[in-house]
Amino acid sequence: MGQGMTASLSTRLIHHAYTPPAGFEAVAPGVHKASTVFFGNVQELREREWRDKSGYTYGLHGTPTTFTLEERIATLEGGNHCVLVPSGLAAVGLVDMACLRQGDELLVPDNAYGPNKAFAEHELRAWGISTRYYDPMDPADLARLITPATRLVWLEAPGSITLEYPDLPALVDVVRRANSACTARPIFTALDNTWGAGIAFQAFDLGVDMSMQALTKYPSGGADVLMGSVVTRDPALHQTLLMTHMRLGHGVGANDAELVLRGLPSVALRYAAQDQTTRALAGWMQQRPEVAAVLHPALPGSPGHAHWARDATAAACLFSAVFKPELGQPLIDAFCDRLRLFRLGWSWAGPISLCAPYDVPAIRQRPWPHAGCLVRFAVGLEAAADLQADLEQAMAVFSGH
Ligand SMILES: *Cc1c(COP(=O)(O)O)cnc(C)c1O
Repeated sequence: MGQGMTASLSTRLIHHAYTPPAGFEAVAPGVHKASTVFFGNVQELREREWRDKSGYTYGLHGTPTTFTLEERIATLEGGNHCVLVPSGLAAVGLVDMACLRQGDELLVPDNAYGPNKAFAEHELRAWGISTRYYDPMDPADLARLITPATRLVWLEAPGSITLEYPDLPALVDVVRRANSACTARPIFTALDNTWGAGIAFQAFDLGVDMSMQALTKYPSGGADVLMGSVVTRDPALHQTLLMTHMRLGHGVGANDAELVLRGLPSVALRYAAQDQTTRALAGWMQQRPEVAAVLHPALPGSPGHAHWARDATAAACLFSAVFKPELGQPLIDAFCDRLRLFRLGWSWAGPISLCAPYDVPAIRQRPWPHAGCLVRFAVGLEAAADLQADLEQAMAVFSGH
């Protein structure tokens, strides 16, 4: 695309420059596979550099395919640098291992993605790194928990399962003020941006240091590949992540990279389509007499709706329904079992809609204000009317039919 031309994210991802083999410029970039590459002579072997992408030295250090995908994910996120890892969860671990040392403290939102907390409770704790959980809806609580040993603050917008939308600029500002008041090693912020996907809002414009994504979800869109990314704007922070990434040996396979490259041109369209269907279903669910609350950041009354309305322009394919407390877990399980288009499963943003019941008090340190059972719905690419009809037929279990 010509210099100085501005276009929407979709258009930029589709017209993203790559270097084709001479005389073979095609729509899709090539898939290059290598455990190693050849050097012409010993001087080249000693001098070739991969860290700035000026050369290829070793399969794990990158191929034309992974470099292209890294550049496109950096574009998607509005950042400058990207590292790819074999899953979204591996991206969480990479950030933790690159930023934390024995004696350091980590702060994680209480409604964070569960396996992020599990890595902190098991591996990080065993390595002498302690973790505390802050109330993501209360920046003053984050400020209270910061100590001179704090080195990393995770952010998530909205929180997993319960979908509270935090005041991200206020949380980032708490960390910025702590950094300017202290001359120790800085505290970094890392956003789990799997929900926003680089589309709902621009993470770096809100001031975060790192934006991590499960490419498994929206960027792939196919529900057939696992991959994660960590994007930064700061070159020094990127080098820190890159060196830890290299020492861990976290490469991604070329065929997997190809699947994500195939998903990217349609990511913005899929996001918009799934957003539209999700809002329609969430609104419909809110009217149902069986339902006590519907959690979705774009619904007025959902926790943090005002923050979402101020900071984001779109919403992902997730909503959660809290059922009336008198409908106990067995009836909720029967409702989920009766759904036909919504399949039971966890990893969302693929073509097929999913649902799963969650025991929220069991996954939160802090009190949860609802007594009823929660079901999280992840909306796929099916027609909204068909999905609504599916929810409606399964609701018959509540009236004994
Ligand atoms: C799915 C998910 C991850 C992890 O992704 P995997 O590729 O399945 O490991 C991390 N964070 C959030 C918010 C997710 O939804």
